[in-house]
Amino acid sequence: MAMNSSGRRTAPVSASNDETHTVSGSRGLLQREDLIFEFGSTKETGVDLPEPGGKPDRLGGVSRSRDVELPGLSEPETVRHYVRLSQRNYAIDLGLFPLGSCTMKHNPRLNERMARLPGFADVHPMQPQSTAQGALELIDQLASWLTTLTGMPAVAMSPKAGAHGELCGMLAIRKALEARGELDTRRRVLVPASAHGTNPATAIQCGFTVDEIGADARGRVDMAELREKLTDGADVAGIMLTNPNTCGLFETDIREIADLIHDAGGYFYCDGANFNAIMGRVRPGDLGIDAMHINLHKTFSTPHGGGGPGSGPTVLSEALAPFTPVPFIVRDEDGTFHLVEEDREEAEQSFGRMTAFHGQMGMFVRALSYMLSHGADGLKQAAEDAVLNANYIQARLKSVMTPAFDGYCMHEALFSDAFAADDIETIDIAKALIDEGYHPMTMYFPLVVHGAMLIEPTETESKAELDRFCEALESVAQRAASGDPSMKAAPMLAPIRRLDETRAARKPILKWTPPEPEAIAAE
Ligand SMILES: *Cc1c(COP(=O)(O)O)cnc(C)c1O
Repeated sequence: MAMNSSGRRTAPVSASNDETHTVSGSRGLLQREDLIFEFGSTKETGVDLPEPGGKPDRLGGVSRSRDVELPGLSEPETVRHYVRLSQRNYAIDLGLFPLGSCTMKHNPRLNERMARLPGFADVHPMQPQSTAQGALELIDQLASWLTTLTGMPAVAMSPKAGAHGELCGMLAIRKALEARGELDTRRRVLVPASAHGTNPATAIQCGFTVDEIGADARGRVDMAELREKLTDGADVAGIMLTNPNTCGLFETDIREIADLIHDAGGYFYCDGANFNAIMGRVRPGDLGIDAMHINLHKTFSTPHGGGGPGSGPTVLSEALAPFTPVPFIVRDEDGTFHLVEEDREEAEQSFGRMTAFHGQMGMFVRALSYMLSHGADGLKQAAEDAVLNANYIQARLKSVMTPAFDGYCMHEALFSDAFAADDIETIDIAKALIDEGYHPMTMYFPLVVHGAMLIEPTETESKAELDRFCEALESVAQRAASGDPSMKAAPMLAPIRRLDETRAARKPILKWTPPEPEAIAAE
């Protein structure tokens, strides 16, 4: 097979089992799609422009000496290229997205409408504050919903994703330890083995060391191990715990965990990515939590994936509130709003600044729009329905798949691969599901469960859709249990078959390099 210099196929390939394309390179009504550089000739242009000529060069000797070398395509060719690419994507607007630990939920169009209102969409971060009072009020109102829902006194609005919120919370903890004069001695952060990878990464980034705590047979923090790790706890900075945890389970000992960590002199960071399961029912402030990020893009809708956008406001307890990063918004006596931008006076103890400006305005609008349209009772119901839907899936599938733990789950159902025949792997199950018309669930995460499959349906799926999804998964699970070898070749029906995902992640080819002209290559 011919490859170009970037390692991509340059000629159509035959339709054998392990090849990606059919002879024509197309499949069903989906056409084979090359890179725009591969089929758009740089020697042509899609528009006819007159030769400039006759104008003096005012570029001071830095004018381009070579062609721009952009592919020249007509408008319909360009539109078709991008529409064909968009058809290769699976999207929440096409079907159920069962990814666990991600909350890919329906994004109400109302939110999008609100975010595009010119007063919000066109606001500039360097505009005089007197001209952006509405935007500041919106951020302030959203902040007040977040502190009310979490029962926490303060919130930092600027973090731009969950991981960034973790950084914010851990920097606040760092600053608090510094204020106590204990930063040098308190270096150890406890992190459960089931944690999302961003948790240990954040702790390390903040200069702490990570001490892993195992899970017990119920999928929760092993309390005996925790107590043991805290017996000599003078070096403990805190704990980073997710609740509900990444096994989709509520950490029932959370109050005791908070007491233990506080008694040891540490702080309690909670990863709030799964807040969707408990909003309106549980206030993290009542559980003894000191800092928690909220992924607005998970819990309060907003299209996300592919790296953005995100927004991770971080709520802080009384103990950490003085260290809140700047900028933050203050409402004055006369009802106007102003931004505290410098870490002095009222923000004297602030740990500093996390972003250039105030955070993700478009996402603030979407989140508040989501909250206002649901109301307090609607948010509570969204959480309850998310939990109900996940338990429905767990109950329906438990006869053909193996639930990782006994009992009810929260907003996501976790299965192990124990039900599958020996030579069928989790990845085969995921790929076979693609042929059934569904995006696979989260696989191999959390790491504490063998061959993990984590399914999060969210609250917006109907029973009929859940049934369709379960039927598809049931048939795949039965094939897996019987060791059906054809699963190894799945997906059969996708335009691209099995990719070398490890190589793609480790050696991504991010830049197209033009193939060498044949004459030179032949020499
Ligand atoms: C998504 C997620 C994160 C990271 O959030 P981002 O917004 O992707 O940075 C952290 N922890 C858990 C449990 C998550 O699910």
